[in-house]
Amino acid sequence: MLHTLFNPKSVAVIGASAKELSIGNRIIKNLVEFGYKGAIYPINPGSATIRDIKAYPTIADVPGPVDLVHIVIPNKFVPDAIADCGKKGVKFVIVNTAGFKEVGGEGEKLEEAIIARAKEYGIRIFGPNCQGIINTDPALKAYCNFTFTRPEEGHISIVAQSGGVAEVINQRFSELGVGIRMYASNGNACDISISDVLEYWADDEKTRVIVVYVEGLPEPKRFMETLKKVAAKKPVLAMKAGRTEEGAKAASSHTGGLARKEIATELIFEKAGAVTFRDEEELCQAAVAFASQPIPKGKRVGLITNTGGPAIIATDELVDAGLEIPPLSEKAKAFLKDKLYAAASINNPIDVIATAGAPHFRAAVDAMMQEPQIDSVYINFVTPFFVDNESIARELVAVNKAGIKPIICNLMTDKRQWTEVIRILKEGGIPFYSFPETAARALVAMTRYNDLCARKTGEVKKFSDVNITKAEALINNAKKSGKEYLSAAELYELLSLYGIPVAGWGTAKSAEEAEKTASKIGYPVVVKADAESIVHKSDMGGVAVNLADANALKAAVSKMKEKFGTVPDLKFFIQKFLPGGREVIVGAKSEGELGHLVLFGLGGIYVEVLKDVSFGITPITGYEADKMISSIKTSKLLTGYRGQKPVDQKILAEILQRVSQLVSDIPAIQEMDLNPIMAFEDKALVVDARIKI
Ligand code: ADP
Ligand code: MG
Repeated sequence: MLHTLFNPKSVAVIGASAKELSIGNRIIKNLVEFGYKGAIYPINPGSATIRDIKAYPTIADVPGPVDLVHIVIPNKFVPDAIADCGKKGVKFVIVNTAGFKEVGGEGEKLEEAIIARAKEYGIRIFGPNCQGIINTDPALKAYCNFTFTRPEEGHISIVAQSGGVAEVINQRFSELGVGIRMYASNGNACDISISDVLEYWADDEKTRVIVVYVEGLPEPKRFMETLKKVAAKKPVLAMKAGRTEEGAKAASSHTGGLARKEIATELIFEKAGAVTFRDEEELCQAAVAFASQPIPKGKRVGLITNTGGPAIIATDELVDAGLEIPPLSEKAKAFLKDKLYAAASINNPIDVIATAGAPHFRAAVDAMMQEPQIDSVYINFVTPFFVDNESIARELVAVNKAGIKPIICNLMTDKRQWTEVIRILKEGGIPFYSFPETAARALVAMTRYNDLCARKTGEVKKFSDVNITKAEALINNAKKSGKEYLSAAELYELLSLYGIPVAGWGTAKSAEEAEKTASKIGYPVVVKADAESIVHKSDMGGVAVNLADANALKAAVSKMKEKFGTVPDLKFFIQKFLPGGREVIVGAKSEGELGHLVLFGLGGIYVEVLKDVSFGITPITGYEADKMISSIKTSKLLTGYRGQKPVDQKILAEILQRVSQLVSDIPAIQEMDLNPIMAFEDKALVVDARIKI
């Protein structure tokens, strides 16, 4: 659908200017100097030529068809310019001009106006307030952009809302001597979205890896679905827009406070299978590897080195990230025995030693390629003056050509001296790095992508024992009565309708009723003050636990009556006392179109002091629920540590999935906190909940 935008045969610039330091001049200059193969039409009523190219007074005066138009004139003239393009039959317009939605007020209205005009004429808008696109295809060389870095041809495509981020990434690849395929920075993205661009690149054969940076997501659901499809086809490397810790900080208050947009973006990436980064440099370095190497099929690395220290550093980095460095097979050892120097270490890492030449390196790489229990090859290559380094590089390239397993090289050299080695590796498609950590991290990223592709996130389980009709009726009734929060009776009823296990309970208005209820539940019990205005019950003296008998219950009730006597509609919530469990929290918060964010963590001080929580987006699969539980830092406390009993993680995972189903079925639930759920070895029961509708 976006083919013409990225492959225009002719480009016009409305607002082309003779002024050297203007966008209207720069775009023409970029097209010419990048070697654009199509026709260029500067549009300017006051000039006969711009940069020696014939100019036209209006777009209507251009003799042939126009595939793509840049609009760089002041904002208030843009709607009419779009209409002019429409009359000319133009299908794609890049609005570089700023002063639209991003400035609010008038600008917002102008943006609506250009959208309306574009719809009228069937034009797709890229921007406004954007840089534009680049296509490095040698048959086209389209530089429809006013930025300045001139990329080489390659296999990495970059898309970012922010022109600054896109350009910085583009520059880095340029500095690294690595080419790119296409580039898109769409600014306000009033029409053509990042999802549209991703969809287009998914089918672009020459794009082997996509780099994406997003800030806001106007259509999060579509973005997630698109990303999922694209990431299954080719690696998508994404920048995280925020930090989980930030969100967790807010978690100490309530689930409602924690669900920040950044967390959602991060979770979207994760759920869709994009490889995420927190650092642009690391992302760029990884992209270089993705662009030329096959994806490792597993996490077992074969290390080859001609120097000691960097092998240790690389090992640390790889093992820290969960990769493995398995020992060599006897067969491989036998193969290498006469081929390496006597002083070499035949193991994993293989230390070929500094005097190793091309045949030694070749034997080591061949051995790793033949080892069935090795998935990728990491090479430390220092360039000693006493060996023929060019020949070593050529041997590595020869093996790499076969493309059996990915090869990553940490090239420790003076890059100004060993230019030939660099040229050979570069042309031979072996990614090389300046530090062992950098090389190792690139390999880790590729392995992560393989893990993401291989993971079985599973189907969403639909529990059939739930009662959606009754649950909806309950919520509608509560809504009708104008409530913001469900009463205790309502919410425990609601949880039960969705099969979420709750501690035995009942409500009472008086001490006598409380006694009756308690004897049905069975002592010991807990009594809690129940009224809409009482939020943090225990802080206000509204929770009395471990009431062993009727006397203790009566005393607790009368104490609460004293304390909360003035509270209207005060009730007493009687509940089974459940000592000795682990307190965990499960929460949910509506994220509008996207669904709900679901939270899991240990309750009590673990949430408040350690901010130790994990998140998911509905619908939560069994795989995701297990992962949420196992990914909190204190997960060991759930598995039975040092004589403590483990808790029933299966039931916790089921509760997460049932909560996911409940909030998906009833999106009117804005926020929900089950805090705490008492988890035991064989059961888990909710003892406190809050639900906002
Ligand atoms: P709130 O969060 O409004 O202060 P809770 O109902 O969560 O009130 O009670 C506070 C604490 O009291 C819980 O975190 C838990 O430690 C304890 N508690 C509450 N109900 C029970 C129960 N049924 N069995 C055991 N402990 C309980
Ligand atoms: Mg509580």
